[in-house]
Amino acid sequence: MSENHVWLITGANRGIGLELVKQLLQSPSNTVIAGCRSPSKAADLQGLAAQANGRLHLVALDVSSQESVTTAAVEVARIPSIAEKGIDYLVNNAGILPGGYDTAFGMDFSHLEQTFNTNVIGPARVAQAFVGLVEKSTKKTIVNISSTMGSIGSDPGAHGSSYAISKTALNMLTYKEAKEKSDITVISMCPGWLQTDLGGSSAPLHVSVGVEGIIKTVAGLTPSDSGKFFNMKGEIVPW
Ligand code: NDP
Repeated sequence: MSENHVWLITGANRGIGLELVKQLLQSPSNTVIAGCRSPSKAADLQGLAAQANGRLHLVALDVSSQESVTTAAVEVARIPSIAEKGIDYLVNNAGILPGGYDTAFGMDFSHLEQTFNTNVIGPARVAQAFVGLVEKSTKKTIVNISSTMGSIGSDPGAHGSSYAISKTALNMLTYKEAKEKSDITVISMCPGWLQTDLGGSSAPLHVSVGVEGIIKTVAGLTPSDSGKFFNMKGEIVPW
């Protein structure tokens, strides 16, 4: 029999997060905690929960709010099975791209502030709030959903500056978390350019393709992978 694993996904009500929830629930060994800003309005998640036989928990979680994240952590820790087994995979997926194709010399700094609060401080505060439950688990893994747009080594060009800068900072968060705690595995993961609200309709890949790759790569991680940056094919991305 396969091992049972608990996953926490932020930004789970649409796009990559929702597809992660759908695909993870296809395996009866997975329990999923779906974090989203408004569970009462998350019709897709509610529909999945109704058929999941208690394997899907919806939690209000706004990663840009410390109060929301702290409250969510308390709520999750009260779920008896999670309190006992912890969270195997914490996936910091929630993210925004408010500045579009902005440039360093032209960007609106409010977009830089927004991306930092959601794309960098968000994953940092979620990790701080939930790390105790992660350390209780078998897999002890944190996945920060990043982007090759934040990979200087991939030479991503001038555009998409505020977003790219936030993802480069997120990658350093991955590195710092991995260096600080050797008992957990922390990685950055680029999901590929996928057809979502954020990725847009010109994206070459259906969201299901990227999510299959994320799950396969994450399931194959070992502690020696901590502090690395992967793409959805399981290849190393340069920082
Ligand atoms: P979408 O825009 O489709 O979905 C974004 C999700 O993040 C939504 O569920 C949204 O919730 C949630 N979110 C935004 N802000 C917050 C917040 N403050 N608190 C909680 N949830 C929030 O984007 P994708 O699914 O495409 O992106 C998911 C991740 O993948 C992001 O980190 C993105 O940067 C990354 N990525 C995506 C790529 C792509 O091509 N799609 C490529 C590379 C990386 P709500 O509905 O409430 O707004």
